[in-house]
Amino acid sequence: MEEKKRTAKEIIEDYRGPAVRIMEVCGTHTHEIFRLGIRKILPPQVELISGPGCPVCVTPVGFIDEAVYLALEKQVTICTFGDLVRVPGTKKSLADARAEGARIRIVYSPADAEKYAAEHPDEQVVFLSVGFETTTPSGCLSVKKAKEDGLSNYSLLVANKTMPQAYQALKGSADVFLYPGHVNAITGTTLCEQLAEEGISGVVAGFTAKELLTALAVALVRFQEGKPFFVNCYPRVVKSEGSPQAQKLMEELMEPCDSEWRGLGVIPDSGLELRKEWEAFDARKKYAVPPIQGKPNPACRCGDVLQGKCRPSDCKVFGKVCTPQHPVGACMVSNEGACSAYFMYGNE
Ligand code: SF4
Repeated sequence: MEEKKRTAKEIIEDYRGPAVRIMEVCGTHTHEIFRLGIRKILPPQVELISGPGCPVCVTPVGFIDEAVYLALEKQVTICTFGDLVRVPGTKKSLADARAEGARIRIVYSPADAEKYAAEHPDEQVVFLSVGFETTTPSGCLSVKKAKEDGLSNYSLLVANKTMPQAYQALKGSADVFLYPGHVNAITGTTLCEQLAEEGISGVVAGFTAKELLTALAVALVRFQEGKPFFVNCYPRVVKSEGSPQAQKLMEELMEPCDSEWRGLGVIPDSGLELRKEWEAFDARKKYAVPPIQGKPNPACRCGDVLQGKCRPSDCKVFGKVCTPQHPVGACMVSNEGACSAYFMYGNE
């Protein structure tokens, strides 16, 4: 008799293999896995841990301090995604700066910020450019547009990061990486294949229930085989070559630099900065921003959460002093943050 094919959900529920730690690199995966109730079907030996893939969460405190400096000391108009406004800096958040009279505008894209700069030639406008390979191209496009438009009042405060070096830095923190599909859609899969050759296993996952269950089931089946592996479980979007167009754009405007990650410290060549030819659009250079060493709240364990070293609920202030309404750290602010996911969906 032909054996009945098991569904991805059944494969996960029936898993009886060795204990496995799977890192959700991407904050959206963390939230979706909670929201879809997938954690509830995991056997006890399957542990999901959060990783460093939430752009706001990994942006260090010093970056917020730089933005506050520009807003208050240089009186520039800061354009930013909403999440960053409430992230605490060393002494002030951008929301605090706004309360002191700074101009802080929430935008939905760098293109909106560039448009605002074009419409307000009397204001100096700085867009806070954070995020990974998914968001960097749109920041680059806004700079190109500003150049075409002849703007001299638009620049970026850049803290963009690239994932490959982070995977290396996190080697050993998990048995399997759940790679962020939207990043791989830009970068392709070559790096993940190389990482598998170095012993780092992973699967690329999409974002629907079916895609996430499939990726987890594949991860568990392959993990039991005992050899490093890589599988692209999001082939409808992720191609091995990625997006050559986006890669070319980033290469044209940006170059690698060392970058500080909250919790992970400085990772060589894991950040991006505008190339010399584009430095007129680099806010750090344009406004001679002094080096600022940010200091996170000592109670906050975002750094450990981002490396999968502890769960948000292990933080002493989780849900008490630190809530989405009164966040102490970035992981509680961002809607991609692990602390916010644990708070919203319960400490499972
Ligand atoms: Fe930081 Fe709050 Fe998370 Fe604790 S609960 S790690 S203070 S964001």
